Amino acid sequence: MSIGQIIIIGCCGIFLAATINHISTQLPSCNYITYPKCSNCLKPLKPTRLFAISRLYFRNCICGYETNLWTIEVLLEVVFTIVMLILAYSVQSHTQLITLILLLSCLTLIAKIDAQHKIIFNSTLHTTGLIALLSKLVETNGANSSVDIITILLPGFISYIIMLTLFIGGKLYKKLLMSKHDIQDTITVLGMGDVKLGLVIGIITGWSLLFQALLLGIFINGIVALSIFTRKNYKPYSTIPFGTSMILSTIIIIIINNR
Ligand SMILES: [Zn+2]
Repeated sequence: MSIGQIIIIGCCGIFLAATINHISTQLPSCNYITYPKCSNCLKPLKPTRLFAISRLYFRNCICGYETNLWTIEVLLEVVFTIVMLILAYSVQSHTQLITLILLLSCLTLIAKIDAQHKIIFNSTLHTTGLIALLSKLVETNGANSSVDIITILLPGFISYIIMLTLFIGGKLYKKLLMSKHDIQDTITVLGMGDVKLGLVIGIITGWSLLFQALLLGIFINGIVALSIFTRKNYKPYSTIPFGTSMILSTIIIIIINNR
């Protein structure tokens, strides 16, 4: 890879990560992405104040509140650019690189919103699912084999069933807890968003990598749960964003298998 290519990929990585960060802070408050508002005082944010680089000179909002934390944005930009460089170095074709980067952007967006707000939006899931489906069709029918859509959808369906089983198990566990302890009905064990995410992850990984991704996801979730559990300000029955762990494991599996 030449220096010029590295610079172009670096700039794309920074721009994509900044955009993902921006969308992830505006989408949960139902704001228009093109008409962003401050999460604190709800005043419109000027375009010059949207990205971290511009905030070296301007504050995020005149009220002093930082809607997009610049530390998180910079961290996201660094990680995203490194991942893009690894993928650019290892994938075979430009088409594969573009679809992988698109998928990575969508997955990062879902993971970030889930980590911050414990919610997975249908709009983000549908977009990711569609891109995953199209990328699989291009990937499998491009070279020499012809794969039908059922073969692509089947791992997604199985992954959906596995997550649905966990979802129902979670509901039963919650019922059991409520019958024995005095706890509120508002706690969630696993949301339907996680179940639908399972479908998308199954399509992305395919048969060969599905179980690796699921197992790694459960393992990462265990580490996250432990870290939350050992925190000083831990509250019993806190919600753990399972979707974020699943996405993290999917991204790791994609990178390892494209090297
Ligand atoms: Zn404000």
